[in-house]
Amino acid sequence: MYYLSWKALAVLAGGLALLALPTIGSAAPKTPNVVVIFCDDLGWGDLGCFGNPTIRTPHLDRMAAEGQKWTQFYVAAPVCTPSRAGLLTGRLPIRNGMTSDKRVVLFPNSGGGLPPEEVTLAELLKQKDYATGIFGKWHLGHLPQFLPTSQGFDTYFGIPYSNDMDRIGGPNYMGEVRKNPDFYPNFADYNVPLLRDEKVIERPADQNTITRRYTEEAVKFIRANKDRPFFVYLPHSMPHIPLFASEESRGKSKRGLYGDVIEEIDGSVGQVLATLRELDLEKNTLVVFTSDNGPWLSFETHGGSAGPLRAGKGTTFEGGQRVPTIFWWPETIEPGVVSELGSTLDMMATFAALTGAALPQDRKLDTYDLSPVLLGKGASPRKEMYYWTRASLHAVRSGPWKLHVKMREPVNYGRATKMEKPELYNVEHDISEAYNVASLHPEIVERLLAMIQDHEADIEPHEDMLAIPLKK
Ligand code: MG
Repeated sequence: MYYLSWKALAVLAGGLALLALPTIGSAAPKTPNVVVIFCDDLGWGDLGCFGNPTIRTPHLDRMAAEGQKWTQFYVAAPVCTPSRAGLLTGRLPIRNGMTSDKRVVLFPNSGGGLPPEEVTLAELLKQKDYATGIFGKWHLGHLPQFLPTSQGFDTYFGIPYSNDMDRIGGPNYMGEVRKNPDFYPNFADYNVPLLRDEKVIERPADQNTITRRYTEEAVKFIRANKDRPFFVYLPHSMPHIPLFASEESRGKSKRGLYGDVIEEIDGSVGQVLATLRELDLEKNTLVVFTSDNGPWLSFETHGGSAGPLRAGKGTTFEGGQRVPTIFWWPETIEPGVVSELGSTLDMMATFAALTGAALPQDRKLDTYDLSPVLLGKGASPRKEMYYWTRASLHAVRSGPWKLHVKMREPVNYGRATKMEKPELYNVEHDISEAYNVASLHPEIVERLLAMIQDHEADIEPHEDMLAIPLKK
């Protein structure tokens, strides 16, 4: 460069500016499409890219390689209903009534649901005129006033609660699995409805094809809305038991039926991403893949794996609330493995930041904007995680430290266990929460206890919506 005159440099710079112009033109800020793929009871250790040795997930592995794989990412609660309430509102479920000491989740005989005044991700994006569709499990109230179409979604196709509810016959699932790990259930034993918008279109829903049909509906919606911003929420009913896979997917995986189910979901992810690529939308679409809680270990080989994490669904151990998470947005997201803290609670502030939508100002939110990490511009603003379950706080994480003040049994999530003293773990050195180091760090125990006290003082519990019975 020493040999170039200032004039030559000016010409060169001008040329570069001209070359850059068309690029700047086409990269003019366009509101990104958003796709959230949410599995049910998928464990931290159930994907190839998270270390599973026998479940093949080539599409998710590619998605992780092209995007960001988050290794310390949490859900708001270790079971379905409250976890979904946290994802969709950016608020801890204790604030919107979607957790309870009396009931774990909503059931077909529940009369409550997510309160209509809660602002969902769909309602957030409606400010920017997004087309909004949900294809899958809702589980935030099945009565008309609580359905997705009352919470900002233009359209709904799916089973409104868990796929094991409304059981009307057949054998005991667990008993059958113990006799024969290859046991395949009959969908007619579960009288769950399939809804389009507010109408039941099939009952019992044929769950053999449920993953395939959710995917087809999502893809159709993307095609129909390719020329305007859209939000697709694809909460799979699988791999929550009873496990179902379409005929083409059965008997394929080395991991048995559970592996077939996950590999079919992987194929579904492949179809969604291929559609975005085909429509030339991949550079303007953020796709997030994650799970609502950890694996349902009570169902043995029909439940998933939390990998090296302790325990699973229903507990506030890492296996219950840390979930495998991938963000994808080619040429915008800085690819890599992220070990910063993040949560499904953070989708609210992150989507607001990326789309220019305004966050609700009249209520307390528990959400952080993760876009600096996604864009490779900075660290995660989330430095702590509060582990709530059934309307009580069981643990807190601050940086690498996690303090348990209450616990449940590690597998059957029904019973609380008595703790003599709080237990402290460094979950970055000790991923399995195996070594209690409370006696070595009394000052950290004190600091985390004070955090819990401050946090609880900031919480005003909502009326218990889960406990409202269905009116006859
Ligand atoms: Mg679940």
